[in-house]
Amino acid sequence: MVKENYERILQALKPGVRLVAVSKYKPVSDIRSVYDWGQRIFGENKAQEMKAKHPELPSDIEWHFIGHLQSNKIKYIAPFVTLIHSIDSFALLQEVDKMAAKSQRVIPCLLQFHIAQEETKFGFLREEAERMLDSEAFADLKNVRIDGVMGMATFTNDRVQVRSEFVGLHKEFDYLKSRYFSGAEHFKEISMGMSEDYQIAMEEGSTLVRIGSSIFGPRDYSLKLEDLV
Ligand SMILES: *Cc1c(COP(=O)(O)O)cnc(C)c1O
Repeated sequence: MVKENYERILQALKPGVRLVAVSKYKPVSDIRSVYDWGQRIFGENKAQEMKAKHPELPSDIEWHFIGHLQSNKIKYIAPFVTLIHSIDSFALLQEVDKMAAKSQRVIPCLLQFHIAQEETKFGFLREEAERMLDSEAFADLKNVRIDGVMGMATFTNDRVQVRSEFVGLHKEFDYLKSRYFSGAEHFKEISMGMSEDYQIAMEEGSTLVRIGSSIFGPRDYSLKLEDLV
């Protein structure tokens, strides 16, 4: 891991774009180095991993959850998580609301949209999102706040396709903003772009890029939680 990689990415960020340094499968010692270079927002995709790392690191880190979240794991992160990017169902949002209430917090969340052609990726389609946002049950939620949208493009070298998926996500954002959140200043985030496609994502209006391997190097998926903390 080299400081030049981190600084190159910082320099490439367009104005108004914030960097989420994706530290999944990376040890706390690596996170500490990037923290010492000035980074404050870190992203994790497993609740137990985030919970284990959190007490080992400075308290001014903003922890962003970016992976598929299971309802029974929300409790591990609800007391401290800064932003959940990956709300992919109303049932999950309701559970986050419950756990946030227990921690006496309001947890900022993004709605993940299914923009990729791959079946394996999670997320809302527009009609589902509308059904949720129109419902009385949604209006009852007091401990979550919707700050915007998130999406993952198809894993492909076809830049034209990736760009069109990011354009599609930006359109979902604009639609939700005008129909449901026009007066809400906090509804302003479009989380899109990873190591391979963040330049395209920024050109298409990303406000949060989630970058892991370009900062920390390739991940070793054989590592266990004990190896990381
Ligand atoms: C791992 C991950 C990233 C970062 O991927 P890199 O290609 O390493 O930059 C971004 N977003 C999500 C949801 C991830 O799971």
